[in-house]
Amino acid sequence: MTRESAQAGITCPKCDGLSAPNQNFCGYCGAALNDSNRRRDYECAVGSAILALNSLESEVFYLLDILDVHCVVKERTKKGNPLPLEGAFFSEKIDTLHYIARRQTDPALQTRLQKIVSEARRLGDERNNFAHGLLWVDGFTGEHRRTFVRRGDSKGTDDPRPPELIEHVAFELTELALTVRDLAMELGGLERWEKFCDEYLEPIPALREKPAGA
Ligand SMILES: [Zn+2]
Repeated sequence: MTRESAQAGITCPKCDGLSAPNQNFCGYCGAALNDSNRRRDYECAVGSAILALNSLESEVFYLLDILDVHCVVKERTKKGNPLPLEGAFFSEKIDTLHYIARRQTDPALQTRLQKIVSEARRLGDERNNFAHGLLWVDGFTGEHRRTFVRRGDSKGTDDPRPPELIEHVAFELTELALTVRDLAMELGGLERWEKFCDEYLEPIPALREKPAGA
């Protein structure tokens, strides 16, 4: 499909009626529109966003590990012991990073950490929307729409964003995950990796070269 035809809509193969590009069925006769990949577009976009959120959470966990933080800073405990970070909610990991950021004495590092915190909060706020939102298809027009019921709310809110905009959120999340990764590498991740190579990877060829039984 060319860009022009995508903007103009999809022509029905049965009645030649014109339908909006986000429809799966013809609005005039109900025939399936074979040019529409709308559902697949949503699957890819929402899936990408969830995977990117998971990467971000994993990188934040790694950064905290490099900063020698292993427990949730706030009051949540497990049988009276501080809650280990690994099983904590994403928001708790971010709250912990925020706490660590405020205690930094290096202003440049503090700024970088705080920027990560505010971006992660802004983008992470969508986690439940992407994980629990519903993709709803209008039976008459074939139009796709996402709805999300926030916990504690009585009715759902429409998320009118098309897959292209959700893909953009996924891109921003991946970008942030890479920023977190870079900082972690800078703060000791690289050193840890080199140490790992020295200790575990380098002896391997030497071990391989040893004749059997030596
Ligand atoms: Zn039609």
